[in-house]
Amino acid sequence: MRQVQPHVLIVEDEPSQRAVLSYNLESEGFRISEAEDGDAALLMVSEEVPDLIVLDWMLPGVTGIEICRRIKSRPETRDVPIIMLSARSEEVDRVRGLETGADDYVVKPYSVTELMARVKGQLRRSRPAGVGETLSYEDITLDAETHRVHRDGHLLKLGPTEFRLLATFMEKPGRVWSREQLLDRVWGRDVYVDTRTVDVHIGRLRKVLCAHGGDDPLRTVRGAGYALG
Ligand code: CA
Repeated sequence: MRQVQPHVLIVEDEPSQRAVLSYNLESEGFRISEAEDGDAALLMVSEEVPDLIVLDWMLPGVTGIEICRRIKSRPETRDVPIIMLSARSEEVDRVRGLETGADDYVVKPYSVTELMARVKGQLRRSRPAGVGETLSYEDITLDAETHRVHRDGHLLKLGPTEFRLLATFMEKPGRVWSREQLLDRVWGRDVYVDTRTVDVHIGRLRKVLCAHGGDDPLRTVRGAGYALG
């Protein structure tokens, strides 16, 4: 089954810009990978095809346009929507003229709200079923679009990390996830987080899930990890 959280790759060399993008996309419930240059971006795309790429035009080394062209020329990545960021509107005109295959263009400085709307618009086109998907397991329901989780009619207040953990579990009930796999899926492979952090967040998730009663649906599998049910 496809992941509930769309995976967005951000390719931007400026750390502050990357952080802003990351923060905002994560708050919208996306899973994020970050690359600071074209080579890193191409490598990441070859390892795991994202659902969408936000691609800066001006990058050290391989330019955004070249990356766009390469991604759009490969059958396995051709359909991944690319939103290009550029510093000036003349560049946008050039991108259009070059027919790189980018799906959308945003001029810097952009409004975060506008960019988020463009991202969602592209994802709605490319994976219509992924947006607004609702998962349920026994008396728990999770709405991927509104980020609302209910258990037995009660609205649960989950932090973003607990939400992502639960979404991961609910995609495949019964599957045992190791701490490393959860780190990859929920925190991202580039982030260094101690595996004990997983236990802390699982603890929080359990607390919220059982806040209004009901059995603990999460199972600790000794020596292996965690599972839902
Ligand atoms: Ca740049």
